[in-house]
Formats: sequence, structure tokens, C-alpha cells
Amino acid sequence: MIILEGKKLEKSFELDGGMVPVLRGVDVAIEKGSFVSIVGPSGSGKSTLLYVLSGLENSTHGEVRFEGSPLSSLGDAAMSKLRRTRFGFVFQFYNLVPTLTVEENIALPLELGNIRAKAYRDRVSELLEQVELTDKRKQFPYQLSGGQQQRVALARALAIDPAILFADEPTGNLDTRTGEEILRLLQTLSRERGMTVLMVTHDAHAASFGDRTIRLSDGRIICEEACRLVRTGV
Ligand code: ADP
Ligand code: MG
Repeated sequence: MIILEGKKLEKSFELDGGMVPVLRGVDVAIEKGSFVSIVGPSGSGKSTLLYVLSGLENSTHGEVRFEGSPLSSLGDAAMSKLRRTRFGFVFQFYNLVPTLTVEENIALPLELGNIRAKAYRDRVSELLEQVELTDKRKQFPYQLSGGQQQRVALARALAIDPAILFADEPTGNLDTRTGEEILRLLQTLSRERGMTVLMVTHDAHAASFGDRTIRLSDGRIICEEACRLVRTGV
């Protein structure tokens, strides 16, 4: 089943009075439960594609469908509710609230969602276990390593049990080994919990943790499965 689909996506940004095309007709279909990597050089439009697919940005042309419904049919309130209740986001720089503890950061999306206090405490404990940070629950972000901070950000994104997790360079700021901890967590979420993961990365090793790679070059998809076959020499 296709959970998320982009058709003929085009996106241009205004620059010096002219329009600069960044996505030039992208078609993608993401299967439910899959872990898909979007790769390509810096500036190729990866982040823009992720933002358009997740409704953070509107496309200039084309259509995005989530569970069969066009995002363009949703008003601002419905779009915001969809992002808050069905989509999870992780970025390169963890974006934690520095004045809140680990458990308070993780609980933020639950507070927005009106979850009962007891259920909410249990959920935070479960999430802390999942990212192996139970012993850090009372600490503040500055007391944690980069990898630990990213695991907090991941737990926070998972709090609402999203249908899709959108990750933009989630390991971009981490060393290889620490990055692999995050990538393995994403893989487990997809394989064992059936979560759909859409990850942008410029790193082929990080991309290889996914089931499938979409390669962008200058705002177009240049190849999908075939790239991996060429790389691994299969
Ligand atoms: P990538 O994530 O592959 O590095 P991006 O999607 O971030 O690429 O950016 C692709 C191109 O679009 C870049 O040239 C960038 O400068 C431009 N761009 C991205 N976002 C904006 C914006 N909000 N306004 C103007 N130009 C933008
Ligand atoms: Mg980017």
C-alpha cells in the first residue's frame, strides 16, 4: 500500500526577482512500512522534497497525497493537525528545548495532544526505554552527547506514534558510530513496528540502512534501485 505519494512535483524559489527551480518534476511513491533514503549532493533539492512531501512547504506545481488524500484539499487547521498527530520530524540539529529536561522534551507533543496524565507518564517511560535513555530522564540537553540528544529528538518525534517519520540528515552532525545507533533505531522502527521512514542524507553509508534509495540530482530523480546495484556491483 502506498502511504505517501508525490506527483509531478515542482518547486521554485524567488531569487533576485526571478524564479529558481529546485524541484523539476519529481514523482515518488512511498510504501507503508518502508524505510526510504533520499540521497544526492548538497543543493540537489533533498530537503525541499522532504518539506514538500510533509506539507511544511507547498509545491509550486504537482500534488502530494497522504493515504490517498491530496494535502492541498486540507485547510490550515487540518494540515496542522495532520502534522501534529500523524507526522514525526527529526532534523540534523536536534532542536531540543534547552530549559526542559529530557523527559519534558519528549512529553511536549503529548501535552499538545491532550493525553491523560497517567497514560502520558507511561508513554514517556516507554519512549525513554526505546532510545535507551531512561537513566538520563532528569538531565538537560547540554548535559548529553550529540548522539544522546538526537535520541531524545527521535523519542519526541515518536511520542505521538506517527504514521511517517521524516528525517532530514539525522546523522549529519554525528560521528559514524554514533550515527549508526540512530540508523539502527530507524531500521528497527520500520522492520519491527511497521513505521514508514523517509530519510534525507548525503551519505551513501547512512542511506544503505534503508530498504530503497531515491537519488536526486539538480531537482530530478536520476535513478532508484539501479543505483544501489551499480554501487554494490551486484
Ligand atoms: P539539499 O537538501 O539537497 O542540500 P535543498 O533542498 O536544501 O537541497 O536546496 C536546494 C536549493 O534550493 C538550494 O540551491 C537552496 O539554496 C535553494 N533553497 C532551498 N530553500 C530555499 C528557500 N526557502 N528560499 C530560497 N532558496 C531555497
Ligand atoms: Mg538539505
